[in-house]
Amino acid sequence: MPRLEPSSTPLSEPFWEATRSKQLLVQRCDECQAVVWYPRDRCPSCLGDQLRWIEASGRGEVHTFNVMRKPGNPMMADLTPYVIALVELEEGHRMATNVVGCEPEEVHCGMAVEVAWDVELTDGRRLPVFRPVG
Ligand SMILES: [Zn+2]
Repeated sequence: MPRLEPSSTPLSEPFWEATRSKQLLVQRCDECQAVVWYPRDRCPSCLGDQLRWIEASGRGEVHTFNVMRKPGNPMMADLTPYVIALVELEEGHRMATNVVGCEPEEVHCGMAVEVAWDVELTDGRRLPVFRPVG
């Protein structure tokens, strides 16, 4: 069964296009400098509409996680057990993602991770997932 693939919207299209070249983008507000994730048309901090795309470092740490031993949906059945995590990036935003490249039992809060581009979607976009540093 194919993996569920997120759709792109006009608002998120720059993010998704950048994944084709393995760049992790995030928005930053020109008025108050807040980092804005997920993609929006207004800054949630100051309501300014001058949001610019910047490249994120791709480095961060596991804020929290869960090991999925039963698939969240049938499309993920072949991947169990897998790790769903909230990763806090150096820029300060938190992304819902998967941690790959290690045993689920090795994942812990505060673990240093970096973006990995292992998951290519059928249209050439990539899902940003994270793996342990080093
Ligand atoms: Zn702002």
